Amino acid sequence: MIKIIVAGFKGRMGATATNMVLDHENFELVAVYDPEASEQNLNEISQYKNENIPVFTDKEKILDTVNADVWIDFTIPEVAYDNTYFALSNKIAPVVGTTGLSETQVNQLQILAKENKTGGLIAPNFAVGAVLMMEFSKKAAEYFPDVEIIELHHDNKLDAPSGTAIKTAEMMAEVRKPKEQGNPNEKESFPGARGANYEGMHIHSVRLPGLIAHQQVQFGGVGEGLTIRHDSYNRSSFMTGVALGCEKVVELQELVYGLEHLL
Ligand code: NAP
Repeated sequence: MIKIIVAGFKGRMGATATNMVLDHENFELVAVYDPEASEQNLNEISQYKNENIPVFTDKEKILDTVNADVWIDFTIPEVAYDNTYFALSNKIAPVVGTTGLSETQVNQLQILAKENKTGGLIAPNFAVGAVLMMEFSKKAAEYFPDVEIIELHHDNKLDAPSGTAIKTAEMMAEVRKPKEQGNPNEKESFPGARGANYEGMHIHSVRLPGLIAHQQVQFGGVGEGLTIRHDSYNRSSFMTGVALGCEKVVELQELVYGLEHLL
């Protein structure tokens, strides 16, 4: 049995992950963590009676009584780095879905994981279809350097552009011929009209109630266009990837960035 802690268990993703762990035959939920939480919160989000699962509001106290193999993190960008650092420092393998970590932070955590010989996974998107969307986009970017990313999420999302959009742009930049997309003389009548710019590729962030997580990668060539789109209609779409991550990280001795490296 893989022993798992869920940080951010009250949140939309954290609650879905908590129920996935409780339902999974190879996983044992050994603790949940959120600085502002109670036992009642755990009973509200799960259909099970959870008398034996401790709810922690101080992460420093977790390890006094709990042994864990994996730390699932679906929290907020401001705390995900500290949480992941804490997990790795204590040889607990992190599976991090929280987005908004900088490249420098990811690099620092990868160094710590190597030093501590502890595995881990940071995945901007745990949906298998989204991983394929990123891989297909990378393939297309070899032939179509003109590309814009339109990412669409629910309006409670804190970071923009999404981690998935950044990861997609990074992967395309590895193979794409460097190019500043659009007319070199273009002017924005309203600042931000052309979106964010990552190495000449533009990224547009849409935030609307009713959406979950969606992304369209739109390529344009001479006389043709290609659109690659992925939609997460439900948060359960991420759970196959989270479960896979939990099973794989306990065998690793390094921190991997991107689910595609474990598929
Ligand atoms: P959410 O509903 O706002 O959940 C965040 C939770 O974190 C809240 O319950 C919050 O508690 C809790 N929290 C705040 N500070 C904390 C701390 N110091 N330690 C532990 N927990 C803390 O957000 P969400 O929609 O679930 O998204 C969570 C993250 O997952 C976001 O970064 C989002 O972009 C990302 N995400 C990733 C994927 C993926 O596939 N990788 C998919 C979807 C979303 P309070 O309510 O008490 O503040």
